[in-house]
Amino acid sequence: MAFLPPTFEARLARARALTPNVRELVFERVDGEPMAFEPGQWVSALFDGVKRSYSIASGPNGSPQFDVAVTRVPNGPASTRLHAIEPGEVVRFTGPQGFFTRTGPQSLAPALFIATGTGVTPMRSMLQATAARPAKVPIWLVLGVRREEDLLYADEFRALARQDPAVRFEPTLSQPRDGWTGRRGYVQSHVRALWAELAAAAGGEAGASLAPHAYVCGLERMVGSVRDLLRKEMGLPRQQVHSERYD
Ligand SMILES: Cc1cc2nc3c(=O)[nH]c(=O)nc-3n(C[C@H](O)[C@H](O)[C@H](O)COP(=O)(O)OP(=O)(O)OC[C@H]3O[C@@H](n4cnc5c(N)ncnc54)[C@H](O)[C@@H]3O)c2cc1C
Repeated sequence: MAFLPPTFEARLARARALTPNVRELVFERVDGEPMAFEPGQWVSALFDGVKRSYSIASGPNGSPQFDVAVTRVPNGPASTRLHAIEPGEVVRFTGPQGFFTRTGPQSLAPALFIATGTGVTPMRSMLQATAARPAKVPIWLVLGVRREEDLLYADEFRALARQDPAVRFEPTLSQPRDGWTGRRGYVQSHVRALWAELAAAAGGEAGASLAPHAYVCGLERMVGSVRDLLRKEMGLPRQQVHSERYD
């Protein structure tokens, strides 16, 4: 029998601009039930015959609330609507669903997260869930956007990296302004070196002997190219490379 994800309604509790093009929306289930999901899963919003998926950006915390972060796509029906709705409005969703998760033994493996834009939201969920757990393995996040003002959740990721030596945050700008001292170019160009460094760091830590896993999320062009790099050029086995495409 085919699995049909449940349908539920959620009310917009609050919203804020994360960047000039990305709006964070905090929804609360109307039925008051806790929002149960695996970090990395997504929900689909349904309106006016349009169904679009959004990764859950927050970690599961037993509350009926969950965050999503939506990039405004010019003339895109769903993202335009989600950028316009007001607190109090109710949206119909299905889900949660998806297999872009860190469940089972791989949750104990070091991880390299590679994201562009709102592709970082499932990783924010995974990082929030990990922050609540004591046994830490290295989790390094490479987030690519065009300009500094497009970096979403950067303050949070920097704070997490300051608090937890296992977390490393590598914001990467493809169109940096003068004075940017961080990484430049496309995320693809940083993956090989970071992977080698992560594998070496993980191998050197007691108890962190599992092979690292890569998690890649964003638009197809980036995801396809990073997958090709990891699988075909670097020869990583399929089980170690996880990806989610937004288009
Ligand atoms: C599993 C999954 C999870 C997703 N999670 C998110 C999420 O957390 N946040 C989010 O903003 N979108 C996410 N998306 C994309 C989302 O479902 C919609 O495709 C997007 O909001 C555009 O819908 P639309 O109706 O506004 O535009 P449409 O007219 O349907 O335009 C679709 C086109 O928009 C472009 N596009 C889609 N997503 C993005 C994006 N994030 N940034 C830039 N361009 C994009 C692509 O070129 C795509 O072909 C996800 C998609 C999938 C399949």
